[in-house]
Amino acid sequence: MPRYQGLPASPGIAIGPTLIYRTQKVTFTEQRVDDPRAEWQHLQQAIQKAHTQLIALEQRARKMAGDEEAAIFEAHRLFLDDEELLAKLRSMVLEDRLNAKAAVHHAFEQYAEALLSLEEEYFRARAQDLRDVAQRVMKCLDGEAEELSVENTPEPVILVAEDLTPSDTMRFDREQILGIVTARGGPTSHSAILARAMGVPAVVSAPFDLNDIRSGTLAILNGNSGLFNVGPTLHELEVARREKEEWDVRRQQELSQAQLPAVTRDGAFRAEVVANIGSVEDAELAIQYGAEGIGLFRTEFLYLQRTTMPTLAEQVRAYRRVFERMGERPVVVRTLDIGGDKEVPYLGTEKEPNPFLGWRAIRMIRERPDVLENQFSALLQAAGQAIAAGVECDLRIMLPMVSSVAEVERAREIYEKARADLEAEGNPLPQQVQFGIMVEVPSAAILADHFAPLVDFFSIGTNDLTQYTLAIDRTNERVSVLASPYHPAVLRLIEMTIRAAHAQGKWVGLCGELAGDPLAVPLLIGLHLDEFSMAPSSIPTIKELIRRWTVAECKEVAKKCLEFSTAAQVIGYLKEKAR
Ligand code: PEP
Ligand code: MG
Repeated sequence: MPRYQGLPASPGIAIGPTLIYRTQKVTFTEQRVDDPRAEWQHLQQAIQKAHTQLIALEQRARKMAGDEEAAIFEAHRLFLDDEELLAKLRSMVLEDRLNAKAAVHHAFEQYAEALLSLEEEYFRARAQDLRDVAQRVMKCLDGEAEELSVENTPEPVILVAEDLTPSDTMRFDREQILGIVTARGGPTSHSAILARAMGVPAVVSAPFDLNDIRSGTLAILNGNSGLFNVGPTLHELEVARREKEEWDVRRQQELSQAQLPAVTRDGAFRAEVVANIGSVEDAELAIQYGAEGIGLFRTEFLYLQRTTMPTLAEQVRAYRRVFERMGERPVVVRTLDIGGDKEVPYLGTEKEPNPFLGWRAIRMIRERPDVLENQFSALLQAAGQAIAAGVECDLRIMLPMVSSVAEVERAREIYEKARADLEAEGNPLPQQVQFGIMVEVPSAAILADHFAPLVDFFSIGTNDLTQYTLAIDRTNERVSVLASPYHPAVLRLIEMTIRAAHAQGKWVGLCGELAGDPLAVPLLIGLHLDEFSMAPSSIPTIKELIRRWTVAECKEVAKKCLEFSTAAQVIGYLKEKAR
């Protein structure tokens, strides 16, 4: 049976049935049917199924993300109750003898077109909702291929997909996912980051064709080695079960120590080990796994999976929930960074020829200073309200994708204005707010000594720093295998950044995926990194590894790594040294 070698993206071993997850649009051909009554009945069943899915999604969204997100699915459900729409569908099938998929397409499209002809943004956004619902009903009509869906699997599954968009997140119930494997994407693509955040084993870039795998086939997914084995032999299954057991025991040990600090064996250095999160739910997970704070709150998730800009009140609520959950622990919030792998039409992000080099992150500041001002204001209000309610809140703000000093100066002006406006209105505000930047573009690393006076801290984003230093698209599976943060050029930039910051008394974190890689632990301690920020599920392992080293040993390791000329040499050496 097929075995596919992909890239490990999140550790652990999953054994269970596969579930094929297709994100592509359903296509159809228009036909006249012989038995319109049977077709109508089939369509009614599909509508009922879509209805049930939407109720489940609405409940999950309410639990995971809040009332506003739940309302999206409620609105979708209400379309399916619309009498006029149902009458139209009925007449198309029973009278015009149209096949169900074509009827759904035409009926929903007529409504969508009507909405699109209106001027207001609100109605245009509803047109997209209608199309989503039409797709859902068509998928429900698709019988066999869609008999299982992530929303209502009878047992936990290994999710098999071509690729996953960050917006797919909302569909998954963590309890139902044993593991994730995708044919595309690199280990630092957001689908992999999402898997790590969920704490489930994951493999990316596995060379399978989705059509060759059937839902419900028993499979083994090894997130440590990158192997995806579909329909294993009994012997392979036995070996995998043993490996999984051993892994689970080790994991239990790490978890039992997760709440303790990560101090090196010689007692000379205590690393700050914090989490990367994208939601309140992740903050909860971070605490469970022993995070001492949040080193990267990816706020873009608040802006995805919706058709209009989140209001100020919505933002304040979301941030406040995270601050209240984290209490006195520091929370580094990154301002909006719509990555090259995401689109947010209502913000005006368009398809660009080179999205990762395009209009994103801090670069939106020239055309849309309002977005940043709005976000600064929401963050300050949320922190101020939390503090007024008795929560000791340690808000830190971080700018993404900075490449020139002028961007930081402009952002600070906007920040000061947002703060002054709130102060004038008499809002409670946090006293001290640290201000930092991500170092993820080579120019920022090279000029780190010029950036240091403007900030309180740096956080090195090795996912993008690697992508931009080596000119390798991190989401392109044909080249992402070459995108190693262990490339000595990337390591030298990290070293330069930390040295420049420390020379001016500023602290440095690292929030790229490298911080959660067990192999990197002695190297990063040896480079004098202060803060390690990673997926919550990686924290117990990394804390455990930090405790095994002395600072002197780590310095030696780092010195040696900086002398190599290839990533393979660095990795080979670190593997030899690994404990
Ligand atoms: C990075 O680039 O390393 C990073 C942490 O940010 P993101 O993965 O969200 O681009
Ligand atoms: Mg980045």
